[in-house]
Amino acid sequence: MDSSDWGIIGHEWAVRMLQHALQAGRAGHAYLLCGPPAIGKATIALRLAQALLCDAAAAVPCLQCRSCQRIARGNHPDVRSTGLAEQGQGLKAEDAARQRDLKIDTVRGWIADLALQPYEGRRRVFIMHDAERLNDAGANALLKTLEEPPPYAMILLVANTMGDLMPTIVSRCRVLRLRPVPRATIGAALRADGMAPATAQLLAAWSDGRVGWALQMRDDPAAWQGLREQLDELIALGTAPRHAGMEWAEARAKAWRGGEHPAVIDELLRWQRWWRDVLLTQAGQGEHITHLDHADAAGQAAARFRIDEVHAFLARITRALGMLRENVNPQLVLEGLVLHRPLPR
Ligand SMILES: [Zn+2]
Repeated sequence: MDSSDWGIIGHEWAVRMLQHALQAGRAGHAYLLCGPPAIGKATIALRLAQALLCDAAAAVPCLQCRSCQRIARGNHPDVRSTGLAEQGQGLKAEDAARQRDLKIDTVRGWIADLALQPYEGRRRVFIMHDAERLNDAGANALLKTLEEPPPYAMILLVANTMGDLMPTIVSRCRVLRLRPVPRATIGAALRADGMAPATAQLLAAWSDGRVGWALQMRDDPAAWQGLREQLDELIALGTAPRHAGMEWAEARAKAWRGGEHPAVIDELLRWQRWWRDVLLTQAGQGEHITHLDHADAAGQAAARFRIDEVHAFLARITRALGMLRENVNPQLVLEGLVLHRPLPR
């Protein structure tokens, strides 16, 4: 593998910046990597750990040596990760999905390790995923560590949003704000990887700049096919009779109560992307839609629905997502949403 780009798709500026800092010996002791889910934050954190601990010691992860490979597999003794996934180990899947925050015990366990000198390498790297889900006690414990980290420690916080983090934590980190990766970059990477050009273009569009998501679908085409079928259902829901809408809402409310929060959230986000496609088409920006393979349906919907209604419904989906996260009764939220589908012109 060519490692000049650290094996990362997109985010070239971030890779360049980190590499210059490492080469000049000016790397910080704490970084905050933030941006939307699945755009590549965790991969950058992993590559930074590899760059620091690579046997070649060249400020570039070679991705080949024993250290780089053990870090990739998650079993290097000088790299310690935590996050909701690690915290949820041993829980039933539905309980793991319901976790709301990173608990103080999780943070303490991770911090306790910071006192230990490197086992093998020159440095030790501490990665915290889902940092936006720290509770107050956990955040305070982390803050103390950020104030006086041991010299060998590199702390990497990975967060979907920065707004939920204590400003005192943010101010002690170098912040890398990652943006969605351009469609063309993802498409080119998928083609270079052997995907047929038309499929690569389509998957890149569907990914909305989320590299991690695109790679996941590349590796699991059945999952992508499932989402395409889900989208067909959601498009049909726009014009379905009231009782069908209510059944849809009831089924999702039941799934939510059963702990399937990520699936329900993803479906609402998918619906939102669809209505955004309709809006883009209405605005004459059809080439930018997410679901390029549904351009005809977007065109029909664009002609059928009122633009102000589509606009209002996009905002309504955002509010519904917020209410679900705030534990408002899911049946009320979802029925309310489906009852306010955009009206035809
Ligand atoms: Zn290496």
